[in-house]
Amino acid sequence: MKNSDLIDIAQEFGNPIYVYDSEKIKFQYERLTSAFKDIGSLRINYATKALSNLSVLKYMKLLGAGLDTVSIQEVRLGLAAGFEPQAIIYTPNGVSLKEIEAVAQMGVQINIDNLSLLEQFGARHPNTPVCIRINPHVMAGGNSNISVGHIDSKFGISIHQIPHLLRIVENTAMNINGIHMHTGSDILDIDVFLHAAEILFDTAKHFKNLAFLDFGSGFKVPYHDNDIETNIEELGEKLSSRFISFCEEYGSDLQLIFEPGKFLVSQAGYFVTQVNVVKQTTSTVFAQVDSGFNHLIRPMLYGSHHHIENISNPEGKERFYSVVGYICETDTFGSNRKIAEIKEGDLLVFKNCGAYCFSMASNYNSRYRPAEILWHEGKAHLIRKTESFEDILQNQVEINFS
Ligand SMILES: *Cc1c(COP(=O)(O)O)cnc(C)c1O
Repeated sequence: MKNSDLIDIAQEFGNPIYVYDSEKIKFQYERLTSAFKDIGSLRINYATKALSNLSVLKYMKLLGAGLDTVSIQEVRLGLAAGFEPQAIIYTPNGVSLKEIEAVAQMGVQINIDNLSLLEQFGARHPNTPVCIRINPHVMAGGNSNISVGHIDSKFGISIHQIPHLLRIVENTAMNINGIHMHTGSDILDIDVFLHAAEILFDTAKHFKNLAFLDFGSGFKVPYHDNDIETNIEELGEKLSSRFISFCEEYGSDLQLIFEPGKFLVSQAGYFVTQVNVVKQTTSTVFAQVDSGFNHLIRPMLYGSHHHIENISNPEGKERFYSVVGYICETDTFGSNRKIAEIKEGDLLVFKNCGAYCFSMASNYNSRYRPAEILWHEGKAHLIRKTESFEDILQNQVEINFS
């Protein structure tokens, strides 16, 4: 989509505002499926938590995706978007047995990532098929906040505990139908990923009735020019042939599952803000926008980079700015960025704002969470309204002190 479309949207619906381009989502979906076209049974389960708007979920369904969910509320969103329970996998971490049982009741595929709940669930529901999330202890990427396969991670059942795991499965006679891993958010080295895949295959050999292997996600997308990204095509070629040979060895055609979030929606998202104040200090020029970490927390939470462009003055002479928000807390979106000259009132767009942006938004400073737009077939569709003061008050219960 063009910058002029974003300007029109901000004019019509107000700002700040999130805009998602459905064409880019589709492009990414088809890129992934075509990279794995040799796989007889491929399933893409979109990771709901990246961007959980109902209309985005419906669009994923239209593309043919299933869903990856991490809470019972995400499961319910998926069902509300029209997904069959069988098209949903539930991969929680640290939730109660009660919640897992409630989701299993809905007919959703359960994925368990600890021995304690595996044993309890297996003892009570030996006939319900369960997937097991393993931790292959492979370090993918360098940031330990977003890398979840390493040794100290709270995610998954350690592969060093496989003997214990097998005893539980035998004692409970439970039905294991899938093996899962999700190693982290940055697969930069295909060989590292393939190494983790071998560990998954080794684990899979212990189970006789598998229906699928789930390789999770971790596809890295580019955040700026010349940024590295996962080479999906190379991964597709190498993993597909290995997967096919494993299925022959295993003696059955398993389904191959991926659960990308970021890969499908990150680059499809734009966050449009307006500059309230340009403030010159002795060393820095600040551009202060009508937003903050209440709307976009990733740069402050884990140092993610979001490219920032001045779409009101794209041809202007480039100068250095620190782009910050209006929240009473340090909320720096970008330090000393080279951006086309900014005047108060200009619209700045943040790139890569589809994944983990709106879904992490809050009401901090009692601000409203912004509206969301799906740009679909050349038209802007409002898919979430801006909040109002009623939303801020909604669940508060007043005490009438006398
Ligand atoms: C968050 C998550 C994903 C998606 O990760 P991305 O980096 O956004 O692709 C996939 N699987 C599980 C279990 C997750 O928790």
